[in-house]
Amino acid sequence: MSIEQVPDPVAGPADIVLDVRACGVCGSDLHTYTQGMFTGLGQIMGHEFAGEVVSVGADVADISPGDRVTGLPIQPCGACRRCREQVGHLCEVWNTRSIAFGLPGAFAERLRIPDAVLGRNVHRLPDAVSFDAGALVEPLAVAVHAVRQAELRPVQSAVVLGLGTIGLHVAQVLLAEGASPVIGVDRSPLRRSIAEQLGVTALADVADVPGDPEIDIVFEVTGAPALVAQAAEIARPRGTVLIVALYEEPARLDPTRLVHKELTVRGSAMVTPDDFRDAIDLLATGRAQAEPLITHRKPLAELGAAFDAQLDADQAVKVVVVND
Ligand SMILES: [Zn+2]
Ligand SMILES: [Zn+2]
Repeated sequence: MSIEQVPDPVAGPADIVLDVRACGVCGSDLHTYTQGMFTGLGQIMGHEFAGEVVSVGADVADISPGDRVTGLPIQPCGACRRCREQVGHLCEVWNTRSIAFGLPGAFAERLRIPDAVLGRNVHRLPDAVSFDAGALVEPLAVAVHAVRQAELRPVQSAVVLGLGTIGLHVAQVLLAEGASPVIGVDRSPLRRSIAEQLGVTALADVADVPGDPEIDIVFEVTGAPALVAQAAEIARPRGTVLIVALYEEPARLDPTRLVHKELTVRGSAMVTPDDFRDAIDLLATGRAQAEPLITHRKPLAELGAAFDAQLDADQAVKVVVVND
């Protein structure tokens, strides 16, 4: 990783440029950092951003300099099969044309958002939501999206395996949606104590998950391959396993268990504008919190140290890179 001087981005007629105030280090960024997944050398990373608008293209409506905003990194092409099916978050070419994936990202002082449309790829932050919290809107939207895939009914029980940023956000969204109980599992005492502070029952080991009440939905958010089969074991017959993590190795899962239990296994990827809107609403109304998840704030000049801090799963939940 290196820090380099690049020309200031310029807003074209349909674009805006932000002064980036905060940008989170994502779990997927760590896969890039350690394994080279998703993107290559020369890419400015950083896709969980919040900032202040400094310039606005002539054709952009309803956004003004000084606005405090966050935005969706994914820029769907609008033309591929998925985009035509109205599932642009699964766009077939998203990773060539999105912020931090093909286009420069937000580990920078300034960020250009192309084709800026308020309510679509740009969302205003209410006064009650700080820039730091604004940087956690994208991962909260990932959690909103995952809980949507679960088609939760009220008072269903849920277990969340892994209490990093996404896991803690999934647990908060579940509580806000009326799931009960919501049990989180993580080896890290720090992560468990933050979970407890947010109202989540936290356990150190998946073996401690009780059999009563039965667990309707299990969210696998660790990325540990062995926990995929464990998730299928603790879900009740006819229950759901929701896979939200990314895995560096294939996981082993006995399909006969799925047959015997009539389990549903689903994946959840990315975010939509509706997920962003709901995530901001959860933060603005206090039904979800972002600040308790922020364990480290690092200036942009210490970006390498920020990544190293995020790699320490026992001591970090969310590292936010800031331009104060
Ligand atoms: Zn991310
Ligand atoms: Zn597309």
